[in-house]
Amino acid sequence: MSCLCVLIFLLLLLHPVNLRFMNHRVPSNCRYQPTEYEHAANCATHALWIIPSILGSSMLHVLSDNQWETISAWIYGFGLTGLFIVSTIFHTISWKKRHLRVVEHCLHMFDRMVIYFFIAASYAPWLNLRELGPWASHMRWLIWIMASVGTIYVFFFHERYKLVELVCYVIMGFFPAVVVLSMPNTDGLSELMAGGVFYCLGTVFFKSDGRIPFAHAIWHLFVATGAGIHYYAIWRYLYRPDTLEGKTSR
Ligand SMILES: [Zn+2]
Repeated sequence: MSCLCVLIFLLLLLHPVNLRFMNHRVPSNCRYQPTEYEHAANCATHALWIIPSILGSSMLHVLSDNQWETISAWIYGFGLTGLFIVSTIFHTISWKKRHLRVVEHCLHMFDRMVIYFFIAASYAPWLNLRELGPWASHMRWLIWIMASVGTIYVFFFHERYKLVELVCYVIMGFFPAVVVLSMPNTDGLSELMAGGVFYCLGTVFFKSDGRIPFAHAIWHLFVATGAGIHYYAIWRYLYRPDTLEGKTSR
């Protein structure tokens, strides 16, 4: 049913009337230039989530009842809110101040770097608050090494090998999941997988600028939906007071 809805939505988007909302596709070594409509949608689809992510992170902070929960709430909150803030600033500068080439370029790199830290921050509460096996517990620091390597990669090779960039995100997204899926306590794993499906489906749109109108804004919506599902899982299974018995303190 949901697949059918997505298909109908895509067909409506690809109707010739809607093609005026996008520009032509560019060669892989160039950057796609969104139309004014697409710029506005790119900004709105992430700006909308800044306040909810701040409120949601504060809620986790309030619900924390030990040191590790507080630390994890801070890390997750910074990752979640940082993603939406950096993305909104980048897309706004890219739309309204595109003559500031150097600033825009730096913000674009920053926008890509923050994705690695967002992925690491999304896993952090699960890795920090759930019981893990001896080898699996190394993932607690390994994800930050991976995020740092991704950041260095963006610094040196930004926009040069776009497919490699996408593969790096997918590896970073899936690798810690191997550990999380092997946790003795499986509460919340179905939500984690559902969120992951949204991120994966979203990458189709991430790579469809100039093919599908508003492709990047749709990617943003998939990211926001995935993040929303993951937030719900973290709130429900790791922080909510009436599931205290499901919590595992370190
Ligand atoms: Zn974006």
